[in-house]
Parts: sequence; structure tokens; C-alpha cells
Amino acid sequence: MTTLIRGGMIVTDERMFEGDILIRDGKIAELSGCAGADEVIDATGRYVLPGAVDIHTHMDLDVGIARVIDDFYTGTVAAACGGTTTIVDHMAFGPKGFSPWHQVREYHRLADGVAAVDYGFHGVLQHVDDTVLDDMAQIAADEGITSFKIYMTYDYRLDDLDLMKVLSRAEKEGILIAAHCENHGMVTYFRERFVREGKTQARWHPVSRPAVAEAEAVNRLLYLAHAAGDAPVYVVHLSTHAGLEEIRRARAVGQKRFGAETCPQYLLLDEALYDDPQQGLKALMAPPLRTQSDRDALWAALAADELDTVATDHCPFTFAKQKQQGAKDFTKCPSGAPGVEERLILLYSEGVAKGRITLPQLVKYACANPARVAGLYPQKGAITPGADADLVILDPDREWTLTTERLHGNADYTCYEGMPVKGAIERVLLRGGTVAMNGDFTGKRGGGQYLRRGRSALAL
Ligand code: MN
Repeated sequence: MTTLIRGGMIVTDERMFEGDILIRDGKIAELSGCAGADEVIDATGRYVLPGAVDIHTHMDLDVGIARVIDDFYTGTVAAACGGTTTIVDHMAFGPKGFSPWHQVREYHRLADGVAAVDYGFHGVLQHVDDTVLDDMAQIAADEGITSFKIYMTYDYRLDDLDLMKVLSRAEKEGILIAAHCENHGMVTYFRERFVREGKTQARWHPVSRPAVAEAEAVNRLLYLAHAAGDAPVYVVHLSTHAGLEEIRRARAVGQKRFGAETCPQYLLLDEALYDDPQQGLKALMAPPLRTQSDRDALWAALAADELDTVATDHCPFTFAKQKQQGAKDFTKCPSGAPGVEERLILLYSEGVAKGRITLPQLVKYACANPARVAGLYPQKGAITPGADADLVILDPDREWTLTTERLHGNADYTCYEGMPVKGAIERVLLRGGTVAMNGDFTGKRGGGQYLRRGRSALAL
């Protein structure tokens, strides 16, 4: 089976050029024409991007007080329709005291034969001992799960001693440690105090998780990684200018084996949303939305190539029911918001079309670098012979309005309701097969393959 995508403007993270893409058996065979293809797709006047890679999702996540509304099917249908053909999902915590193998098995049970795009998992560490560290190394070797998440806040946070043990072992094994960076003491102090003082409306949520809580934890993570022999680390969902300054500090002193991710919500939304005690629940997430000046700083960092990736932290709950658990007390609200389908087109519309980033930078942040960080490049995130034929055909001119009705996930809202969008995802291919067409899902349940990942580019 051969498919020819003809006449499009091909965009990689380095350049743009008009050309043809010949697909054979699900892989990109050549970047040139071929008269006898079985199927010809005309991409004249369109951009052709690598399928987007989202390395921060939470499908079917159980957070104890609630379970997210998208499972690995509905969440990956949404991903596909939004141009994302690969996800790497962050696992939920498992039962207290269990081996990390427990969640690896649980997540295969949730995703295998269900996911509609290709998928991998980040492991999770919630306590540390010699057995857990051996399991981490074994899971990386056996499962291709070459990154593990740790939390610096929440009940299963790791303290500095545990972090040193994890980072030292990760350095030895070439495993990437992804970290949720917030100072637990600061956050807990403010949350307890605000509840005591009756300050339980949504607008107290960002005040309870100040920018310095993120900055301090980013700083500490980077110093710990340095002390552990330059262990490879990855800061997830960076949300603040203060945190960004810590990234700059580490880079300025020559630390190299780290990366940082931000998310569309920290670029496009701000804490003014929390002023409305009801609507604010929609964007109740950790870290919280920040200020306009934080947004400006993050866009400037993207323009200057100072960040590595833009992922979503897709973690959807229903507004009508689940989010209402926080109606009287924000500390009781399940934390997270949808976003997997909106990411690519919002980065195009708000980023590229508005001149904040270039089209190759969009491909770098949404496709190529996430694949590199996850150890999937150039199988994913690249338009080059031998790569999987995961492609997005984007119409740069179409204008439309983002509404919940047009999206495919199970959430009953989007944080971007009513936002005008320039550009539309016309067609999405996963390994050569069309999985989305003009906003309709055309793939199939279980059409995604499990990805055994190689070593992260940050761990080389
Ligand atoms: Mn997350």
C-alpha cells in the first residue's frame, strides 16, 4: 500500500519546503513524487506537519476523589482529531507500598486494545527503596518505559534524600526523571490557612500555590540533579516567570541534561479566570493559571528557544458534576482540565498566526522535541524517510470558533470556549492511515500501538 501526499508545504523543526511525501507500509519512504501510488492526497496550499506528540496526558486517571472523564479511547479520539498521533501518559499513583510494576500492568490493562493513537507511559515513583529502584531499571529495560515521574508535593511526594537516591540511580541507568515542581510546605501552609480563614473560593487557589513555590522546587530539582552526577531531569508544566529564571540559571552555569515543558493554558489563560467562583473551577489545576506577565515571559522563552516542549497535562473532569466538588471549597476540587485536542491548533492560531513563534518552532515544541524527550525520535516527530507516517495536513486559512460541541473528549467544557481560531486541522494520518478528517474521527478503537521507548535525548 502506497500513499502520496502531493504539493504541500512540508514543515520540520528546522525548515519548510514544498514537496511530496511517499508513504509505503505506514512509513515515510521518500520525500519525492511517485506516479503510481495507490492513493493520492492533494495538499496544495496546505502545511504538512509531523503528527503531534503529547508527552503529558492523564487518560483514565484515578485521583482518589474522582476519576477523569476520558479513558484511553475517548481521550485518544480527541487527540487524533486535534492532530496528536502519539501520547505518553503519566500514570496515577498505585496502592500504597506497591511496586511500580503494579501501575505498569494496570495501564496496559487500561490502554491496550483501546487507545486510538500510539501511546507510551511514564512510570511513577511514590516511595523509594532498593527494590523500587531495581524495579525502575527493570521496567525501563523490559517495557521501554524510560522516564519516571516524581512529585515534590502531594501525599506521595519524595523528599530530598529519596530524590537523591532516585536521581543517582536514574543517572546510572539513563532514565529521565520528570518532576512536578512545587514546594509542598508552602502550598500546604497556605491551603490549611485559607481553609481555616474561610477563604475557600476559587480565587484563593492561585494564592495558595505561589510562583515562588514552583521556582523553589525547580531550583532544588536542578541542584539535586547536578549533585547526583548530572542526572537527566525534566520539569513538567512550567507555569511561571520565576520558574523560568531557574531554568535560565541552570543553563547559564552549564548544566545540560535537563528540559522544561510548558502547556497552552499557561500561555493563553490567566488567573483572572478564578475571579468567578463557578467558572474558575473549570481551570482549577496545579500549578494554577498565573499572571499576564508570566504568560508573556513563557511566550518570549518559546520564541528564544529556551524551553523544550509544550504538552497539555490533559486531565478532564466534568464541570456539571465533578468540578462542583470544589464549589464551596477549592481544596476539594479535582485538579485538572481538558486540552489534548486543543493544543496543536491553538499553538498554530495563537502562536504562529500571531507571529509569536515560527512554524518550525511549532513543530519543534509540539512534535519533534516531545519525541526526543520521550526517546521516540525520529520514529515520531519527524518527516524523514524511515519515520512513521504520522502526519497532519493543516489548512492555514480557515477561520472558526472553538466550542465544546466541536471537540471529541468527554468533558462538558473547554477552557477556550468561544475563542476565534485561525487555521484548521484537515486530515491526520497515523502510520499512513487516516484517523481524522475535517474534525471527524475516522480511526478505530485499539488502532494505537504501544511504544517501547528508547533513551531520552536528555539522558544521552
Ligand atoms: Mn499532570
